[in-house]
Amino acid sequence: MWFRWVKPSFSCHRHKDEAARSQASLRMERHRVSTPQRLGLLGSLATLLLLTGVHAVSFEEISSGYHTLQSRRMQSTLQFLASKHFNGRATGTPEAELTAAYIASVFQRQGLQSLTGNKSPYIQEFELVQAVPRAESRVSVEIDEGANLTLKMGEDFLPAPWGPDSPEIRGRMVFAGYGITAPELKYDDLARLEMKGKIAVVLSKFPGGTKQTNWDFYSQKDYDEPLEKALNAQRAGAAGIIVILPSNESVPALSSLNFKNAKSSLSSEVEGLRIPAIFASYQTGEKLVRRSRTSEHTLQALQDKIDSGLKPASLPLERIALIQTSYERKKVQGRNVIGVIPGSDARLREECILIGAHHDHMGVSENQEIYYGADDDASGTTGLLELAEAFQAGPLRPRRSIVLAAWGAEELGLLGSKHYALNPVFPLNKTITMIQLDMIGRNEQRPGDPAKGEPEEKDENNTNTLSIAGSAFSPDLKQWFEACNRRTGLTLRYRYDSGQENLLKRSDHWCFLKAGIPSVFLFTGFHPDYHRPSDTADKINYEKMERILRLLYLSTWELADQTNPPRFMTPRSTAAKAGSQQP
Ligand SMILES: [Zn+2]
Repeated sequence: MWFRWVKPSFSCHRHKDEAARSQASLRMERHRVSTPQRLGLLGSLATLLLLTGVHAVSFEEISSGYHTLQSRRMQSTLQFLASKHFNGRATGTPEAELTAAYIASVFQRQGLQSLTGNKSPYIQEFELVQAVPRAESRVSVEIDEGANLTLKMGEDFLPAPWGPDSPEIRGRMVFAGYGITAPELKYDDLARLEMKGKIAVVLSKFPGGTKQTNWDFYSQKDYDEPLEKALNAQRAGAAGIIVILPSNESVPALSSLNFKNAKSSLSSEVEGLRIPAIFASYQTGEKLVRRSRTSEHTLQALQDKIDSGLKPASLPLERIALIQTSYERKKVQGRNVIGVIPGSDARLREECILIGAHHDHMGVSENQEIYYGADDDASGTTGLLELAEAFQAGPLRPRRSIVLAAWGAEELGLLGSKHYALNPVFPLNKTITMIQLDMIGRNEQRPGDPAKGEPEEKDENNTNTLSIAGSAFSPDLKQWFEACNRRTGLTLRYRYDSGQENLLKRSDHWCFLKAGIPSVFLFTGFHPDYHRPSDTADKINYEKMERILRLLYLSTWELADQTNPPRFMTPRSTAAKAGSQQP
């Protein structure tokens, strides 16, 4: 045990006998009718609170904010965000700028503090880059005296969309398994391999096939990200990297290469990569491995060996490869919108609860259909705007600060939250909890999968359900949500911490979970309109959204006022169990 569990102390979930037991504390609390008076009391209160570990506000004291959260208001805010006016809110469009400006204007109206500087209050800008490979990029392999096997771009290979321009580099290839160095999982594909000046040939994703999600879950790292693999190879001294695509994926055709389809990356992140990186088809990977002294191996056999034993099977290859990459690039502006409700406690205000939702969505399709993104994530963004008002409604302010963050570029790969985690306006080591709202407006609806024992989810059975993902890393958070939910009465589920869909790393909370911050993701589940133009405001369950935001309001008060913050727990004991099957 790390330290003592502090019982949730809202009157919404405190039984009468418990209330009586902490009567002395409550008597003092009731004096906190206004912020100045409360601040005056805190000097003498602090000692008592630290001794007892109990801190409380009564529901009555914060009920005005609670009742501000109403479905009618949510409906009009959400309808506006998911309207034609914002045209699908795609990053890089004028409407994305308009969305950010609208959110900032609400934060300003609610009197939130800006910590992003004076240039554009509340707006944290970040630069994204898109790169389209040029036709002069080349990859070839020296086979026999002077003879080269030249790979075909758009068929055998494609430069990675985040790679640097590179003059021709020449290096002997090494097969470096999955290209992963994971000390906490006691797994290293690069161990005992001479990497200096070599070209690493690596497989995509994680070892172990269907067990791969365990790697995310237990390590909280992006080991499967090709860019991470390239940076890992670079750190080991490699001169270049060839990432082999999975056997069921083909290299994108040259005709599909344009800025409309190009992947975006954070400029600050890709600038660190200096070695050329390419993707190659699995068939090409087979050729690279087979045309080698170690010809008794096939790529498939090597992969099977790693997957079955969950141990590296790296080896030097005989052949020399030549790589040259060249790109056309475009810069795109991303924007996070961040507003702070300063805490009222002179000491605890230095800590914060971070609540996020993403304001971007997918824009307009080539045939001019608007992706309205009502659930994804106008619902969560509406939540932020309504919370900004709710926390200003009553006479009290929470002890800790509350940071509201509307992330940009989530749909492009959590890029806004990634940028924030690298450049926080409120220190991460003082961020005690992160709560992400992404798709909180619908009733889960999906076909079942009998093979996995998953029942069909029907709209009419899920009018009151909310999933909370990430609580495996903080059982404290789960208990606080459960306790506060005694007033809101939602059906809470915790089924998405692991599983094939990998939900835990599919929204912005992931960037904070990776940093060891207790983080949860509130989510009402998938539905047939997910990432379709039909995700519209008329399909939202506003009554449920009201309950969700009221639950969040109560839980945030609880988190902000408790003396002891929630604990982060790496699920090691379970990981150790899984370790018998894992590397
Ligand atoms: Zn989405």
